[in-house]
Amino acid sequence: MRLLVATMNAGKLREYERLLADVPGLELETMASLSKPVDVEEDLDTFLGNARKKATAIAAVAGIPCLADDSGLEVEALGGRPGVHSARYSGEGATDARNNEKLLHELRDVPDDQRTARFRCAIAVVDSGGRELAVVEGACEGRIGQEPKGAHGFGYDPLFVPEGYTQTMAELGLETKNEISHRAKAAEKLVPLLRELQKP
Ligand code: IMP
Repeated sequence: MRLLVATMNAGKLREYERLLADVPGLELETMASLSKPVDVEEDLDTFLGNARKKATAIAAVAGIPCLADDSGLEVEALGGRPGVHSARYSGEGATDARNNEKLLHELRDVPDDQRTARFRCAIAVVDSGGRELAVVEGACEGRIGQEPKGAHGFGYDPLFVPEGYTQTMAELGLETKNEISHRAKAAEKLVPLLRELQKP
């Protein structure tokens, strides 16, 4: 089965190659195999909605099934924000550093025991006719620290301390992240569904 992974990010593609390595006969393709660029606005209010929207639009152009994901951070003291707005939390020209600064500012009066948060990831696999082949979600529980720490990863990793750990995701590094992350948890659920689809 050919599957186009909807990302321009080479790191994410490698991550999926590793996470889906247990699915026999799966050939992952990149956006480079598209005949024309597809720009999909991720403007829905759920991770799943955005993942579905992206996968459906791209599969229709690609003519083969597409895997798309959407992910972000939900902070309980902020009523689930930044949520689907995680990438642009600090507005126009947002960077990881500015997003993290804004998050720390918003949580300035929130004590440690109320800084619980989770990373969430939704993955949708849709075929070129718009048929949904698989939909899964994964989460990684944790809390937001008082200052950025660590140099690995991206996004909110320097502020996010996963449950059961004392270091941030950015301190723990990729090997641990790839075992406990929201994307890893969602992909774990996807593997048996893709295996099932491969059966004649
Ligand atoms: P996307 O789903 O890859 O577009 O991610 C949206 C945004 O959520 C990113 O720009 C990050 O700010 C945040 N995010 C998603 N996954 C992670 C993660 O594994 N670590 C840190 N931040 C993340």
